[in-house]
Amino acid sequence: MSDRRETDLTRRGFLQTAGGSLIAAPLIGAGVTTAAAQVPDIKLPAVGQKRARWALVGLGNLAINQVMPAFAKTEKSELKAFVSGRREKAETLAKKYGVDPKHIYSYDNFDTIANDPEIDIVYIILPNSMHAEYTIRALKAGKHVLCEKPMANNVKDCEAMIAAAKAANKKLAIGYRLRHEPFNQTMIKMARERELGATRHISCEAGFSIGDPKQWRLRKPMAGGGSMMDIGIYALNAARYLSGEEPVEVQAMSYTTPNDPRFVEVEESTVFQMRFPSGLMANCTSHYGAGMNRFRVFAEKGSFELQPALSYSGLRMQVYRGGVSEERSLPVRDHFASEMDHFSDCVLMGTDPLTPGEEGLRDMRIITSIYESAAGGGKTVKLT
Ligand code: NAD
Repeated sequence: MSDRRETDLTRRGFLQTAGGSLIAAPLIGAGVTTAAAQVPDIKLPAVGQKRARWALVGLGNLAINQVMPAFAKTEKSELKAFVSGRREKAETLAKKYGVDPKHIYSYDNFDTIANDPEIDIVYIILPNSMHAEYTIRALKAGKHVLCEKPMANNVKDCEAMIAAAKAANKKLAIGYRLRHEPFNQTMIKMARERELGATRHISCEAGFSIGDPKQWRLRKPMAGGGSMMDIGIYALNAARYLSGEEPVEVQAMSYTTPNDPRFVEVEESTVFQMRFPSGLMANCTSHYGAGMNRFRVFAEKGSFELQPALSYSGLRMQVYRGGVSEERSLPVRDHFASEMDHFSDCVLMGTDPLTPGEEGLRDMRIITSIYESAAGGGKTVKLT
């Protein structure tokens, strides 16, 4: 087990970390039982399965380190095209992943993808401020779109993206990968089925220590905001899916370390609280200065939590009941392969995605209210 502390984690290290390095001592009680948290999820390969054909827009860290390798684990998705500003880079990656160079596009000639009948889905993996433009261009080109989170930098752009999907009669989904992996899915099921009784409180924390002060994530026009837009959105989205309700009120406070060269344009941290219609409340934290990676549900007869909750792998679940903690074993699944296969299936079968544009818009509306509350010194903002 690594002795790395949460606060030392970089963004990539944070997301890729195996569970062991983040597990603290059990929170309560004696009689701790641990089992292997991860069990192999072995599936027989699908024979003759029809696959939807994907184009990736933006060949940055996420595309190269997570999305491209994930295609090898898909059953319904095929990597077919790249859209990049750097032809040489795209050609090198095309060679590695067997992409025909005739399917390499630049940002300038991207719209001609409309004439490429071998592309079904366009996956937008660009900086946040570019999501709306490229999503709308892809929809106008007659392609279905999976767009990374956060959906866009503001509510107006989210609404324009949804309208463009409707006008084109194409599907639009937002990349909430945690909805496609077993640990978060099990947390939702346990809460819905009241395994430990009714939920009384939810606590979600998401943060990492961001590095290079020059990166686009710290430029407000490109990122739309600070930690809240990039990592806090996981805590917000989790509080919504774990509660199964939509918040009616938010209160938030932000803090940024003075004179830290990383936080000239965007906020470092935000603490926010949400009240749901049933009276349930959630307490959430978003941070760019400290590692935190935990979703917890407190119920009548105990609590259950994920820690790490949002890394790409190594998620772990603990259930606390009657002074005993138990670690649950669940299958390991590649988040991106599952997410892409789900969307391919929607496109091939004509069904609706789990996280459509409206889901991204809901988060964006709440984030806007969180920023409004924080700017007003923590005033309560009502959501309609
Ligand atoms: P990145 O900076 O590594 O990659 C961005 C890509 O966009 C690069 O290829 C870059 O060349 C290209 N680009 C085109 N025009 C650009 C411009 N004007 N300025 C900067 N880059 C430009 O970023 P990333 O980490 O791959 O993130 C991309 C998107 O994916 C973001 O929206 C981010 O929120 C999202 N993301 C999601 C997850 C997840 O787990 N779902 C994880 C990481 C990132």
